[in-house]
Amino acid sequence: MTLILPEDFGATPKTKLVLPEGMTKLLVQVCCAPCCGAVLECFKVHGISPTLFFYNPNIHPRAEYEKRRDELIELAQLLGFAYVVPEYEPQGWFAQVKGLEHEPERGARCSVCFRERLMATALYAKEHGFSHFTTTLATSRWKNKKQVDAAGFAAQEATGVPYWAEDWRKEGLVTRRYQLVKSFNFYNQLYCGCIFSRDNGAYQKNCPEQK
Ligand code: SF4
Repeated sequence: MTLILPEDFGATPKTKLVLPEGMTKLLVQVCCAPCCGAVLECFKVHGISPTLFFYNPNIHPRAEYEKRRDELIELAQLLGFAYVVPEYEPQGWFAQVKGLEHEPERGARCSVCFRERLMATALYAKEHGFSHFTTTLATSRWKNKKQVDAAGFAAQEATGVPYWAEDWRKEGLVTRRYQLVKSFNFYNQLYCGCIFSRDNGAYQKNCPEQK
C-alpha cells in the first residue's frame, strides 16, 4: 500500500475555519484514513498542525485494525502530521460493551464506544499538554453527531480539556470526504469497526464508508 497525494489535494471546500479561543495545541482522535482525509486536508490548508491520536480498541479483528492503523500512519506521514498509536488492547473495550452486543448502530453500544475512545483522548491530551481535542468520528453520514458530541463533552467535563465540537460534515466536507476516498484509493472498509458491526448485514449492504 502506497498512498500518493492526489493532484487536487488542497481543494478543501471549507475555506473559513474558526478556531476555538485559546487553542494552542490540538489532539485529534482519528479512526481511519477515509473518515479523516477531508478534515486533515482542511487542517493542512489552514496551517494547523494537530497530533493524530489513533486510539481504536473497538476495531476487530486484529488484521482489520492493522490495515486501518497502517493506512492512517501512511497518510499522517505523507501529510507531515505527528501521530500517536497506543497499544492495541481490545479486551477492555469488549468488557465495556458487554451486554450491548445486539444493539443497533447508533444505539447504546456506540455511545459507550464513543465515550471510551474520547475519554482516552481527553486524558492523553491532559497528560501531554494539549489545549483542545476533537475527533473525526462523526464525519460519516452513518454516524450520529449528537451522540459523538455527548461523548466529547463528557470527556471535557471529566478532564477539563475543551472539546472542539466542529461539524466536519458541513460546508461540502462530506462530498470532499468521498472524493478523497476515491482519489487516494483508501482501503475499502465494509463495516464500522467492531465485530458486531461486521456481522450486521444492513451495514455491509449499504457499505457507507465508500459512498
Ligand atoms: S458500530 Fe462502530 S461506533 Fe458502534 S460500537 Fe461498533 S465500532 Fe463502535
